[in-house]
Amino acid sequence: MRVAIVGGGAAGMMCAATIAEEYPRVEIFVLEKNASLGKKVIISGGGRCNVTTGIEDISLILEKYPRGNKFLQSAMHRFSPNMVSAWFEAHGVPLKCEDDLRMFPVSNNGTDIVAVFEDIFEETNVHVKYKHNVQHIIKKNTGFVLSFKDQKDLEVDKVVVALGGQAYRHTGSTGDGYDILEQLGHTITPLAPSLNSFLTKETWPKKLSGLSFQKATIFIAGQKKQYTSTGPFLFTHMGVSGPAIFALSARIAFLRYDKATPLAIQIDIFPDLTEGELLEKLQQTREEHMQKTFKNTLPHLVAKSLAEELCILLDIPLEKKNADMSKKELSRVVSHLKGLPLNITGRGAGDEFVTAGGVELSEVDPKTMESKICPGLFFAGEILDVDGYTGGFNLQASWATGNAAGIAIGK
Ligand SMILES: Cc1cc2nc3c(=O)[nH]c(=O)nc-3n(C[C@H](O)[C@H](O)[C@H](O)COP(=O)(O)OP(=O)(O)OC[C@H]3O[C@@H](n4cnc5c(N)ncnc54)[C@H](O)[C@@H]3O)c2cc1C
Repeated sequence: MRVAIVGGGAAGMMCAATIAEEYPRVEIFVLEKNASLGKKVIISGGGRCNVTTGIEDISLILEKYPRGNKFLQSAMHRFSPNMVSAWFEAHGVPLKCEDDLRMFPVSNNGTDIVAVFEDIFEETNVHVKYKHNVQHIIKKNTGFVLSFKDQKDLEVDKVVVALGGQAYRHTGSTGDGYDILEQLGHTITPLAPSLNSFLTKETWPKKLSGLSFQKATIFIAGQKKQYTSTGPFLFTHMGVSGPAIFALSARIAFLRYDKATPLAIQIDIFPDLTEGELLEKLQQTREEHMQKTFKNTLPHLVAKSLAEELCILLDIPLEKKNADMSKKELSRVVSHLKGLPLNITGRGAGDEFVTAGGVELSEVDPKTMESKICPGLFFAGEILDVDGYTGGFNLQASWATGNAAGIAIGK
């Protein structure tokens, strides 16, 4: 049997390696338009490659996928983060789990992850065809014909489409799979960037650029129950960013907002304290420093730059003494610390990590990743309508779906 794996990213590499190791008699072609494999894997996690998550409870892991969590259930049980870690370790790449439960190679080097696959492909029945830019996949009676931009056609029995999404396009993931699959009769759901920073209407975050918080809760104003996200957060020169912002961006990937109709968000920078507790803390600090200015007292609780900005936002004169601060003013400060108001006007251009949306999941068998519309056609990775939060969940989805397709193909 001849199998073509279209796209040599995380999902395609894992699929090819699985087939090569489980079914050595299958002839495998990995077709990649770049001159190397796994470009995105190498730059992932800031070059360190957050391979997977250290969370073990599968139901908790599935909660980290705003889209596709039910679909992933089977693949995730059969190739869980634990099994992924064991797989890489067995292939000579020891992993470590950091305090926030992200797993990285001990070497902190994403190229070690890609090297595992390169070694497997060298030793097995895998032909890696670089600079093979797939244009069309045509279904024939007994198999498929693939056509390329500059190469000869290739005939195979089965095809796995692992072409990724359209985020970080310079890595090769330019969304080519969407057209190719529509031509084969598949539905592509609406697409949107996800895991991105936000631009804000307010310009004051720029003055605080780089100021970060270990834990903040971000929510859409008035919708704390529906859209909320807690985690590390930071101000940037254009707005706000960090894991809590990325998670929120994933939840609201399909909400519309722009300069004319911004979306109001609020940031609680003391998520572990109630308003009452925070007020008590603030009052206590004030009473200890009655003759000092409020501006110089607030830094007992927050960074100096934020303290000053808060005073400006709340019209508290910078020279105002603690003794002159009213309870009403202190309460307003607390309300702001528990819900800093900002208006988001857009996403950081081209800085999203993944594409939300993709191949309509009802058209794919979640156990085998085979198309229900076009037998012999399989999918793996971000091309599917599956995306997760930051923390290793997107690569984990690619490993798991790549493995599931690989196992199913040889059977
Ligand atoms: C900057 C950044 C950092 C990230 N960090 C992490 C992280 O640390 N942990 C995590 O879990 N996730 C991370 N992600 C997300 C994760 O990298 C992706 O979800 C994952 O790599 C998707 O894998 P894939 O194989 O589905 O697609 P891709 O990795 O996008 O691979 C698709 C492949 O198909 C090739 N291709 C495209 N079109 C064609 C064509 N026409 N013909 C032939 N080949 C083609 C591309 O060149 C590419 O090699 C990050 C993403 C970005 C952008």
